[in-house]
Amino acid sequence: MADEAADPRSRFSAETPFSYRCARCRRCCHDKLIQVNPYEAARLARNRGISTTAFLRDFLEGSVYLRRRDDGACVFLGDEGCTVHADRPLVCRLYPLGRHVLASGEVNFSRLEPHSHSEGVFGREGTVTGYLASQNIERFVAAADRYLALLSRLNRVWWGSPNELDGEGPEDDAGFPELMDLDRAVAQYCTEQGAPEPLDIEERMRLHIASVEQWLDANEAGS
Ligand code: SF4
Repeated sequence: MADEAADPRSRFSAETPFSYRCARCRRCCHDKLIQVNPYEAARLARNRGISTTAFLRDFLEGSVYLRRRDDGACVFLGDEGCTVHADRPLVCRLYPLGRHVLASGEVNFSRLEPHSHSEGVFGREGTVTGYLASQNIERFVAAADRYLALLSRLNRVWWGSPNELDGEGPEDDAGFPELMDLDRAVAQYCTEQGAPEPLDIEERMRLHIASVEQWLDANEAGS
């Protein structure tokens, strides 16, 4: 019988037999575009003890990707492995799996192609569910799904498209909400609301999303 989980082209379910043992060879942290959402940027910024404003400036390239060094290594890769392990983004937690949310809301997974010299070991001892449970992904998945829904609405309102970010937006972008700089957006929102800024990062995410939704509500009401 063909091994479904061994085929990188396969999409498989939470119960598909799957296991992966990282050999800490560090090769998989090279030459990858690691995209982060505002929640992940805020966690990484806090891990570094800086604001998201400084984080965007110093650790991102192309606005949403973790910066890479000249040798292709992720900016957070150290001699012993990931230096931000407790706050690593969702894609790093899922790896070597990819998570796909379909238009129907169904979620499935694929096996990503590992680095050609990776020493990681694939197997069938567990299931996809078991592997993901070991990676503490719940908060990261919840954040990813919330920002995906927000981005979809933002695209509809701003670009007139449900899926694309690469279209031309309106010429006058005054008032366009700050998407990635969560700390700045939350500070501004709390000032406007006359409320103290919460420290809890999940609560800060909730306010960030509320601030963007408030802007979207105003734009939809005025259109
Ligand atoms: S954040 Fe950590 S796990 Fe993810 S690519 Fe960078 S070094 Fe590797």
